[in-house]
Amino acid sequence: MGGRVAAMVSLIDTHAHLDFPDFAPDLGEVIERAALSGVTRIIAVGTDLESSRNAVRIAAQYPGVFATVGWHPGHASEAPDDLRPALRDLARSPKVVAIGECGLDFHRLPSKTSGGSPEEDQALRLRQERLFEQQLEVAAETRLNVVIHTRDSWSETLAQFAPHSGRVRGVFHCFAGTPQEVAEVVRLGSLISVTGILTFKNGGNVRTALASAPPGAFMLETDCPYLAPVPHRGRRCEPAHVRETAAVAAAVTGRSLEQIAVETSTTAAGFFRGLDLPTPP
Ligand SMILES: [Zn+2]
Repeated sequence: MGGRVAAMVSLIDTHAHLDFPDFAPDLGEVIERAALSGVTRIIAVGTDLESSRNAVRIAAQYPGVFATVGWHPGHASEAPDDLRPALRDLARSPKVVAIGECGLDFHRLPSKTSGGSPEEDQALRLRQERLFEQQLEVAAETRLNVVIHTRDSWSETLAQFAPHSGRVRGVFHCFAGTPQEVAEVVRLGSLISVTGILTFKNGGNVRTALASAPPGAFMLETDCPYLAPVPHRGRRCEPAHVRETAAVAAAVTGRSLEQIAVETSTTAAGFFRGLDLPTPP
């Protein structure tokens, strides 16, 4: 494929942590490099209130950047008892296109990390569940969809989300599950999103899962600064790299890069309320 054709592809990085200190020194250049690679839209994802405010501020500064506001389950112990009032306020900010990231993460429970008791595990799980529930509630009220993080908690996350699925759609971000789990998500009218893991040598399970996903059921993301796709693996990831993931997604699903770009951008525009697509040249 020639460079001129490649430049016409328009992609969306649907999950980027642009507010992380990793990008403080050169954020403007990072966003410019993304645009030069055809990544014309970036969703800056909030992980707590301060991070969400920063995502909103970055979105206000850069035309191609949009924001989500929410509280990551990994920081549940620092969350206010009732996140809803502050989250409702933030959700009204310009260019906020979803709630999250939110969900459940049982990977680092106290018993696994610091010799904590089963009671401590249970307390943190309940705290995460309450925080997730509050965000699902605000999402339904504000008619925004949710960006869902789940780790070592698949069945619990799905069970908690399912009763909300009539009012709120979810994207199970950084998806690394099975084709059966893809089917469970699709049955709820929700989506998966895949990162650079798709390009990893040991990412076969993600490639298998993606190949099983029906058209319109998946999006692309970097989760930068983490998970840089091959050939950038191990270095700081940035939104421009979603292009490498898109190329592998095209190969895995038997489509062209152009088809994948159009399809995933259309899916993202339908999922993130208020995300406008660039007008074709
Ligand atoms: Zn994330």
